[in-house]
Amino acid sequence: MSEEQQGTEERGGDADPVEQSFRDTLYTVDKQGRRRWVYPSLVKGAIFHKRRIVAYCLMAVYLSMPWLKVGGEQAVFLDLMQRRFTFFGVTYWATDTIFLLFVLTGLALSLFLFTALFGRVWCGWACPETVFLEFLFRPIERLVEGTASQRARLDRSPWTLEKICKKLLKHALCAYFAWVLASTFLAYFIGSEILITMMKGSPLDNPVPFFLTLIMMGVMAFQFGWFREQFCTVLCPYARFQSALMDDNSIVVGYDVARGEPRGKVRKARGGCGSQEVSSDEKGDCIDCGLCVRVCPTGIDIRNGLQLECVACTSCIDACNSIMDKVERPRGLIRYTTENALSGKDTRILRPRVFLYLCLAALYCGLFAYALFTRAETDITILRGAVDSPFERLSGDLIVNHLHLKISNKSKEEKKYAFAILDAEEISLKVPLNPFPVAAGGIQTVPLFVQFPQSVLEGGKRKIRIEIRDDPEFRKVETFTLLGPNE
Ligand code: SF4
Ligand code: SF4
Repeated sequence: MSEEQQGTEERGGDADPVEQSFRDTLYTVDKQGRRRWVYPSLVKGAIFHKRRIVAYCLMAVYLSMPWLKVGGEQAVFLDLMQRRFTFFGVTYWATDTIFLLFVLTGLALSLFLFTALFGRVWCGWACPETVFLEFLFRPIERLVEGTASQRARLDRSPWTLEKICKKLLKHALCAYFAWVLASTFLAYFIGSEILITMMKGSPLDNPVPFFLTLIMMGVMAFQFGWFREQFCTVLCPYARFQSALMDDNSIVVGYDVARGEPRGKVRKARGGCGSQEVSSDEKGDCIDCGLCVRVCPTGIDIRNGLQLECVACTSCIDACNSIMDKVERPRGLIRYTTENALSGKDTRILRPRVFLYLCLAALYCGLFAYALFTRAETDITILRGAVDSPFERLSGDLIVNHLHLKISNKSKEEKKYAFAILDAEEISLKVPLNPFPVAAGGIQTVPLFVQFPQSVLEGGKRKIRIEIRDDPEFRKVETFTLLGPNE
């Protein structure tokens, strides 16, 4: 018996379906607390092929976004240095925090809704961990080191020249692809053109981006080359709180206990005309071949029920379907289903939590759309210069108020803002520079001095209207209350 088969037997080959002791242990950690390496076998089935197409599309999106241009700008550019974030031609600035709030809240609500409906479909189909590990790094590993059993044998074997060459080749290839992914990641933040320029020069000319790329590359090589399923089972916060988001109506990868149990090997029966394969009448459809366990990237036995370690990768579905085809039984012993369906109850799609998440998500989408369409390219805030001494007396009966006018120019070009006081000829405005230039994406505070004779005040106050204009696109009128002596 191979080590993998032995592991299968230990993990559930003849497990009692109501035995729950597995819930207190992690398959990937042995009793001494050491890492137990998982060698998942490759199984190609209908779902695997669909997942592979989705994964390649997602990889293409990730790799291409920094190189695509929309409106002359990088399609997705998260320019932290300039605090400027561009998404498909629309630029947001650090001052657009309301959009960040909408986006983060909207993403959280979508995740709640998605998880309540589809369980961990995200983990199995679109999580970067799954996409890059299962469809980039594991294929490299299989290419160099062979099948699951060959890989297990290679790891157990002594360090021969062949083993050293295979390990070096695998890690060199993984490091190369980790470098491609890390460089692409950096391009989202510094820009693809700057990245190319930096790559053409010496690393010593740009030490910070160079070391950032090396660190990212190291993190990816560590994650996809060694840490792997440990991230999902030990670190990922989504795996932790998903149990609070899911209920018995959420879609899961589930084993049909009623149909599969009692499990048992297909036995050979001897008849008059030779031998033929039959299954005992008392046996369920599970022939206890263990393939569903051997293909599992987290090493669990789905027949024990829903488990935290299950990333819904569907490998066990494809594996079991291939076995069901061979033994001529209906597919779907392991399938996408719900806990309610498995226990013979109806599955309800629209339920209170789904309805609540839907309403909140729709509300946030509406607010986001409203904020987007009413978004101004210039933000103006007027503040009093000094609250404790709001005015200053000049010669004669002249009074001056000191104001701070904060301008945020969110457009992609420099603007020149002109200021004027409307409908009050006796009140004059002094500005250091009028019009006042503000760079693209810049925030400037302009000092304004409003000078007026005391006679314009009523009860020590006077409302004025200040016009801020950038012809021909922008004009805003702000109201401000002048203060002076109440005599
Ligand atoms: S692959 Fe199917 S038949 Fe084989 S052990 Fe798993 S559930 Fe049973
Ligand atoms: S139990 Fe099945 S779906 Fe879950 S992680 Fe293992 S192989 Fe993937």
